[in-house]
Amino acid sequence: MPVSKMWDVADAMVAEMRAGLFSNESGVSSLRMLVSPIDSFPTGNEEGTFYGVEMGRTKVCVFRAQLAGKELGVAKKELMEVPVPINLMVGTSEELYHYLAAQLVKFIASSGSTSVLGKPKEVGVAFSFPVIHSATEGIHVEWNKGFSIKESAGRDALTMLNEAMVKHGVDMHIASLVNNTVGTLVGGRYCSHETVAAIILGNGTNAAYLEPLESVPKWHGSRPPHGQLVINMEWGDFLSSHLPVTEFDSQLDNESPRPGEQIFEKLISGMYLGDIVRRVLLKLAEETALFGDSVPLKLRIPFALRTPDVASMHQDTSSNLRVVAEKLDKALGIHDTTRTMRKLVVEVCDAVTKRAARLAGAGIVGILKKLGRDGTDKKAVVVVEGGLYEHYRLFRTYLHSSIKEMLQGKFSDNVVIEHWPDVCGVGSALLSVPSSHVC
Ligand code: ADP
Repeated sequence: MPVSKMWDVADAMVAEMRAGLFSNESGVSSLRMLVSPIDSFPTGNEEGTFYGVEMGRTKVCVFRAQLAGKELGVAKKELMEVPVPINLMVGTSEELYHYLAAQLVKFIASSGSTSVLGKPKEVGVAFSFPVIHSATEGIHVEWNKGFSIKESAGRDALTMLNEAMVKHGVDMHIASLVNNTVGTLVGGRYCSHETVAAIILGNGTNAAYLEPLESVPKWHGSRPPHGQLVINMEWGDFLSSHLPVTEFDSQLDNESPRPGEQIFEKLISGMYLGDIVRRVLLKLAEETALFGDSVPLKLRIPFALRTPDVASMHQDTSSNLRVVAEKLDKALGIHDTTRTMRKLVVEVCDAVTKRAARLAGAGIVGILKKLGRDGTDKKAVVVVEGGLYEHYRLFRTYLHSSIKEMLQGKFSDNVVIEHWPDVCGVGSALLSVPSSHVC
């Protein structure tokens, strides 16, 4: 991924963004560019207790923040994490919403908090699924990637969530439902007024950003007071002939439950990096007998190698690459490796991770270019969340340097990448009181 190639990707991203903002018709763009109508953003002056729920693909996070105004910010945070039971991933939306309501009840009970003056507490909810806001059909969720939820036809998701709350006898009211990149962007705005985009780099990947209203020809809804629309790009779907898709990526894609979909995500997100590395090692084992005459059996098992294993091997600083030896042994059943073998494995981890980080960096620069913020003196903050970014130091380093390389010198000093813990929780919680904060 030399700089010129990264610019090709960034320019292709800009072209797809424009096309997706122009029309919702399928086939026009690989980017959905979903509009999330948000009337107002936090000012940073908020005070009080705010509740948020973030539902990911594997876990639900219930969140309470005590905000203490401009000077003190987030005075206290409490968090409860529970897994999403596998049976609920293929059940009905009603069952799933009941589970969410039950978790809220548990959280409230564990904290012994009571409502203020008998008024229901307002809650903001963020899902890591596409959330469609339609003026005529209300809000609905598109369940994808392992979730196959039977929806009650024509029912608004927010109404159903609130019905579940009532059935559980909980004095809480869901005030808003957004995609988690939108929650992250709103949380980012709370932390810095200069936040223009939010990126998630975890199991999956996605991006949201603020687009001036006049640049969204497909939007015919109401005009927000601040003149900007929040766009959930669903950038995991991004497709371009400039993406450096190799034979390993094609194999991974062909063997996936949905071939041809989510190509950008399959190149860069934490769900897949381990398996790309495994596929490269398998080819090396088959064609160069890297690990001896026979190919280790576990190397043929899809997803036997996980991204945290790749990170541990990649970041092994011991002189004899002891961690690499341990991981190869434990994860792939490859024993008695030499230092030369381990070094080669590290090189593969480096190549796969560096490519992923540089692609993500190119995507971020694409957003900045679309906003005309790739060459100005005005500061632009991009908030990044997700386990891949948070826990994989070299991925982070490569991502930062790719943006610097692309933007060069002083321009890149105006682009600040920030990571604020639990920023999506704060953002979704703040969305529970949308009308009280104006940008
Ligand atoms: P989700 O995207 O489901 O909300 P997270 O944001 O928690 O999940 O991110 C999970 C991803 O983070 C996993 O795919 C994993 O690959 C990656 N990850 C977690 N820990 C590490 C680690 N120590 N090193 C590298 N990647 C990690």
